[in-house]
Amino acid sequence: MPRDVQAAFNKLTRSPDGKPGKNYWQNHARYSIDITALPPDRNIKGTESITYFNNSSDTIKNPNIKLFLNIHKPGAPRDGGTVPDYLTSGMQIDKFEVNGEKRNFRDDPYVFTNAGVRLPKPLAPHDSVRLSFDWHYQISLQSGREGMIDSTTYFLAYFYPRVAVFDDYNGWDRMDFVDSHEFYSDFNDYDVRIHAPKNYIVWGTGTLHQPETLLQRDVLKRYTASFKTNEIIHVATKENIAAKNITTQNAVNTWRFTANDIPDMAFGLSDHFAWDATSVVVDDKTGRRASAQAAYNDTAADYHYVAKFAAHSLDWLSHNWPGIPYPYEKTTVFQGYAGMEYPMMANDETYADTSFSRFVAEHEIAHTYMPFYMGINETRYGFMDEGWATTFEYLIGNADMGKEKADELFKQFRVEGWATGTSSDIQTPITAPGDAMTGFGFGSNEYGKAALGYLAMKDLLGDQLFKKCLQEYMNRWHGKHPLPWDFFNTFNNVTGKNLNWFWNNWFFSNNYIDYNLSEVKKSSTGYAVTIRNTGGFFAPVDVVITYADGTTETKHLTPSVWEKQPKQIALTVVTKKKVESVKLDGGIYMDGTPVDNEVKLGKKGF
Ligand SMILES: [Zn+2]
Repeated sequence: MPRDVQAAFNKLTRSPDGKPGKNYWQNHARYSIDITALPPDRNIKGTESITYFNNSSDTIKNPNIKLFLNIHKPGAPRDGGTVPDYLTSGMQIDKFEVNGEKRNFRDDPYVFTNAGVRLPKPLAPHDSVRLSFDWHYQISLQSGREGMIDSTTYFLAYFYPRVAVFDDYNGWDRMDFVDSHEFYSDFNDYDVRIHAPKNYIVWGTGTLHQPETLLQRDVLKRYTASFKTNEIIHVATKENIAAKNITTQNAVNTWRFTANDIPDMAFGLSDHFAWDATSVVVDDKTGRRASAQAAYNDTAADYHYVAKFAAHSLDWLSHNWPGIPYPYEKTTVFQGYAGMEYPMMANDETYADTSFSRFVAEHEIAHTYMPFYMGINETRYGFMDEGWATTFEYLIGNADMGKEKADELFKQFRVEGWATGTSSDIQTPITAPGDAMTGFGFGSNEYGKAALGYLAMKDLLGDQLFKKCLQEYMNRWHGKHPLPWDFFNTFNNVTGKNLNWFWNNWFFSNNYIDYNLSEVKKSSTGYAVTIRNTGGFFAPVDVVITYADGTTETKHLTPSVWEKQPKQIALTVVTKKKVESVKLDGGIYMDGTPVDNEVKLGKKGF
């Protein structure tokens, strides 16, 4: 446990039983934002008022402000290179006020995604401060997680100055946003007004207010109907759009969206995207439905199915894994270039392979739970969100296409690269701070390795107990900021077992998956099979025994077999039959050196 985390446990903001500690706190803010986007003008203008509440016992003097879009500034720290079309002059702060008083804002070429500001009067514990900003930026020609999709389609994300997370273990989050390491956000209340020209539809996070003032009568009828049916409703088709009879014909319409206790807001707008919508029951107890929408260019063939895929994701995730009703009122998948999640939104590419479009939509929508429902520090502990989205993606894939195909895709896409690789970076522990890592080792830790760690625990505990632990972790930490130790401690607490032998093995080690079937010997009762654990990970494995009579038998070993003997185990096969061969099959837990996983005794079988 790192020293800053130890200190949090000592201050009782975290508790060894895995619950939030009795002194747990987190800060909160209310954002009121106006944003004006008038394509094809690339200039986006914003004004906001933030009421920030200090729930900590510390006095705040220098809050840190996140300006994520400054990643577009020339010279900004970034994981990788970029092209001129991605570059802009970043976020220009035109006005900064504290409690209504004008203040200077340091806005020079060396300010990137973090900007410290000084409060004229320190913010005492349990007091609040009002920060106001006016700003503008040019939307980038090349879009990443946000930007211009085409000249009249914009995706707006991370578009407002926000107060960074100030927390109990790390203080101010001053980690640079360098692209791959993603975000860390408090749960805030948002009231956002998007000012967009007529004939532009705006999709986004939160409740759309007064749609009757924005949408023409027939469109409104279809939109309203979509909240009550499992059928796909074409709220706006290519033909409607061409006829320009979708929105109210004011020069500029104001689309107001609100959402409370949510980590972020994102929006897409277009004058030519089609709009599909449907809905599905996500909570059987209350009968609550959630809306699933798609916004896309009609030429994208796969996108005609995306509203259906989104509804399926909401349904499946709510009823199976994690088995917690989808916590929001809707989701919208917007056609862009990102493969990225936002609360109630995804920005996904179009693909020729429609089953891949489904796969990506499912992954991004699975992120609803981690990081958004759970308030994960994605920058430092991305395995706590990407690892889960990857786990859910695999489990929903099993339901969609059967285990065999899902296994194949998962192995190819999430496992093979690191499981068969030998480079030292892919052997760094999963809990290594993500912000201190780059490259393939970083990616492996966040996605495939972490997902297999969670799935190996599922194999160890069985589905029922695993789900009980997972749901209890999610109930305890929903709307808060859990750390890896809160997760591990909750599982230990709920199972009543000390599972640290497993957590240490998967999450804190340099291990990899490599078993060696070293010996198969005749014994008095049958055969003695020796398996050496060369790589160190405690991964589930099947032992497949083929008998001389042509029959086979499979013995499944859960990670528990390694608890007491981590290096080598002896397995007894009680049989009167002759064994022809014994083989290890890890399935998705791919072995680093599969050549030593089989012993062939031949027809004679001793
Ligand atoms: Zn993801």
